[in-house]
This record gives sequence, structure tokens and C-alpha cells, in this order.
Amino acid sequence: MRPSPDSRAWIDVSADALRVNLRQVFDAVGRDGWVVPMVKADGYGLGALDVVRALQPLAPAGWGVATVDEGVALRDGGVVGPVIVFSPSPPQALRAAVEFDLAVAVSDVGSLEALAGIAERRGRPARIHLEIDTGMGRAGFPAGQVAAWGPRVGALLRTESVRWEGLHTHFHSADEVGGPGVEEQLSAFGTVVETLDPPPEVRLHTANSAAAFRLGAAAGGARPGIFVYGGAIGRDLPVPRPVASLRARVVRVVDVEPGATVGYGATYRAGVAERWATLAVGYGDGLPRALGNRGHALLAGRKVPLVGRISMDLTVANISGIDGVEAGNVATLVGRDGVEEITLDEVAAQAGTISYEVLTGLATRLPRIWTDVD
Ligand SMILES: *Cc1c(COP(=O)(O)O)cnc(C)c1O
Repeated sequence: MRPSPDSRAWIDVSADALRVNLRQVFDAVGRDGWVVPMVKADGYGLGALDVVRALQPLAPAGWGVATVDEGVALRDGGVVGPVIVFSPSPPQALRAAVEFDLAVAVSDVGSLEALAGIAERRGRPARIHLEIDTGMGRAGFPAGQVAAWGPRVGALLRTESVRWEGLHTHFHSADEVGGPGVEEQLSAFGTVVETLDPPPEVRLHTANSAAAFRLGAAAGGARPGIFVYGGAIGRDLPVPRPVASLRARVVRVVDVEPGATVGYGATYRAGVAERWATLAVGYGDGLPRALGNRGHALLAGRKVPLVGRISMDLTVANISGIDGVEAGNVATLVGRDGVEEITLDEVAAQAGTISYEVLTGLATRLPRIWTDVD
């Protein structure tokens, strides 16, 4: 293994794996396709500015965030290219969006009018991506009601103070085998495009990670997230290269008598004489508490079970039958160690959640250790 930090626990992040994964998205939608990697939630928990630095060589068309604050943080970090804010923004946040030249996904007439007003007073056009709700039901102008909102919105988008840059929708089930609903949503989106008849410079984009691989060039443009970060996107679709590994050091090794208990609630009891290793990581680091008595760690090249409940700062593994483990050794909770591997998606499934939630739940107290940066 690589030289590792002195920390008690950390996340190894491979910049090279990020690039390999994004390159696969480019290959799927076409080399000259419009691809905007999503770096919201601090780059799916790994560090948005570091992700931007790692992916910059592939020259994507811009960067996607969820909030205006995230966009401002990119600007503060020196990102000068296009940044698009995808979640609907509260009225209070719109001024900063124009101020920092962030494009905004708009879901309602009120926001569009407010942005046009701010832009006019500021003397700088508001960059707009119009979101269409084709079934997600959380944001966007309702596709089925385009006859009602289309004329007013179409007119606003063609005013001086507005730069209409994009028109997009978001799929709800592209990650399920066969991508049920993708065709239906695409067709609803197509009807709206026909009705609004946007000028040619308006970019149409529809694809999350899974849809980029299902639709290829037909996606228009892609906004990939989880695939780039190493999360699986559907059992019938390509598998990404793992990006993040969660490591923790052993801080105690003990041989226990039959009947010894471990963790809050004493939910595990040694049936025979056992050896336990305490790992310096817990749910306070984002290791899902649901992995107690279910999850595994890799230690000394072996896959060992986690025993007892996971604490905020500590977790115990049963290393019975394994010699030579001592304080300071490195355990892997997510990732590869030799021939053994615990994938991000395995951990998510065991914890009853998805890779997205595991990644974005990784706490800031874990240093992110980047490799292959350049
Ligand atoms: C998060 C997000 C994506 C990325 O989705 P993945 O499933 O992570 O690829 C794309 N578009 C929008 C609007 C999003 O909010």
C-alpha cells in the first residue's frame, strides 16, 4: 500500500480513477458532447475544488452544483468557467447568483422575473437553464402544462437581461434495469422543446450518469455524478473504477474470554475465546451505524466481520485466527486491500442506503488524501 498519513482514519481518493470514469462518460455521449460533471455536496463528499482540479484536464463544458453557496465557493476557489446551480434557489439567493455569474436552473416564473430584474439593475445578464418536470415532481415547469406557462416564460427568456443557455429535464429511474420511464420522460421533454422552440444556442441536456450510458448522444448533454465518483449506476450498465477508499488504523488488539461483550447494548458476545481489533473510525466519521454486526473490514489481507454496534469514534472487528495485527495497522472499510475488496455499493446495500448517501455522509474530520493528482 502507498505511504499513508499519520491520521487515525482517512479517505484515499484517486484523481486518476475520477478521470478514467469521466472519460467513459465522454465516450458514451460522444467526444464532442456537452458534459457537465456534478460537484454538488462538496463533490459528492470528496472535495469540490479538488474534484474540479482533477477533472479540469478533460475540459468539461462546466460544473454543476446544487446551491448558490456551492457555486460561490467554486468562484472563491478560482473556478472561472461556467457553473450551473441546479436545485431551485430561494429568492434570497438569486442576487449572489447574478453577482458571481452563476447560471441558474429555473423552475417558476417568479424566479425568472426576479432574476431578470436583478440582472437589469446589475447590468449583467442572468444565465438561465430552464428545467422541465417530466416526472421527478420536485422541480421544473410541469411538462404537461406547457400551453399555460410556455408563452409567458418563452417571452421572458428572450428578453435582453436574460441569457437563455439551457433547457433540461431529469430522469427518475434511469438506474433501474431497462431504464423504465426514460422513453416516456424523453417524449414529454420533446413536446416541450417543440412548443418552446428555443434558439439553436440553447443547450438541451437530460442525462444523469445512468442515462448518459443508456441514451448516448441522444441524451443531448450529460450531467454525470455518481459514476464519476465510483458508484454503480445499474446492473446492466458499465461499472466505474473505484475512487474513494475509507481507511482506519487499529488502536487496540485484545484476546477475550468466551462471554465477553462489545459495544453499546452489548449486542455481541464472544461464543469462544476470540481476538478483537478496535478500529479508529465510527459513525461520527460517516461509517454507517447500520453496519454494526453486519459489515466487514479488510485487515492483514483478510475480510473480517464488524462486531457489536458501531460507536461514534470506534468500531470493533473480530480478527480471531489472524496473527500479527497490532496498533497502527491500517484497516479498509471501503476499498481494496490486496486481492480483497469491499465496494462502496456493498457497504451502501448493507447499510440499507445508496452509494450517494455513504459518500456525502463522510465527515469532514476525515482527511481526503488525493493520489495521482498530476
Ligand atoms: C445530482 C444530479 C445529477 C447527477 O446524478 P447522478 O445520478 O449522480 O449521475 C444530474 N442532474 C441533476 C439535476 C442533479 O441534481
